[in-house]
Amino acid sequence: TLIGRTAIITGSTSGIGLGIATTLAAAGAKVMLNGFGKPEDIEAAKRAVAQAGDGIEPHHSAADLSKPVEVRAMVAEAESLLGQVDILVNNAGIQFTSPVQDFPDEKWDAVIAINLSAVFHATKAVLPGMRRRNWGRIINIASAHGLVGSPEKVAYVAAKHGVVGMTKVTAIELAQTGVTCNAICPGFVRTPLAEVQVGAIAKAKGVSEESALKDHLLAKQPSKRWVEVEEVARMALYICGPDTGSLTGSALSIDGGWVAS
Ligand code: NAD
Repeated sequence: TLIGRTAIITGSTSGIGLGIATTLAAAGAKVMLNGFGKPEDIEAAKRAVAQAGDGIEPHHSAADLSKPVEVRAMVAEAESLLGQVDILVNNAGIQFTSPVQDFPDEKWDAVIAINLSAVFHATKAVLPGMRRRNWGRIINIASAHGLVGSPEKVAYVAAKHGVVGMTKVTAIELAQTGVTCNAICPGFVRTPLAEVQVGAIAKAKGVSEESALKDHLLAKQPSKRWVEVEEVARMALYICGPDTGSLTGSALSIDGGWVAS
């Protein structure tokens, strides 16, 4: 149980982050959500988390994580509203695809700022409190692309490899404390944004939706099925649970065998 624990989950207005926030809240944690969206979508996310969490309303920070000052303000706000931050899930991320030679500089900067630098700034900001209390869980949502490459994803792959590296350094520095730092490396996860790609590929390639999924989108994922948001969320919950103090500095794959193949 996470009763008495508090958590920030970045990028939790949709997809994997919302799933993790819901799961941590269901286990008893008080959470702060973060991320963009239409007001009604953010309200719906808050309601889903409140419902899972025994009616306890989560907070929401609209911090733009591409701005270090807003990352720091989000952590300060969480510390003041929740009392402390025991769990930090660095989940917010964006993607942009293009061959290296054509990759727009401003897209490179945006992907690095959100997917990599925000992880650094948030980790730096929560560490003084975690060290003082001698307990903390920092969970970085990297990707299979934190461990292997794919064409046209130079900024994303560079950022996610960087996150895996940062996870190792943070873990080593804190190894003699009660604070752990791990990365989760999912393959393709079923999220609304990912799912719409199936129809688009089927249309573009003139193939069935099943073939679009298995032969194209999941070409690298030997399981030939989506990783479910709940699977990733339960992995995060496990990391926050008891008897996990020695689990630190790891890049945990949950990818249907992608990186193994
Ligand atoms: P998503 O697009 O559904 O959610 C992304 C979240 O990040 C949203 O809440 C969005 O509002 C927020 N966000 C985006 N830019 C932001 C900014 N500047 N400041 C604050 N919040 C911002 O994505 P998802 O698929 O749930 O992905 C979540 C994480 O998991 C990402 O880091 C992604 O790289 C990683 N991941 C996803 C998959 C997948 O297949 N979906 C696979 C591996 C890794």
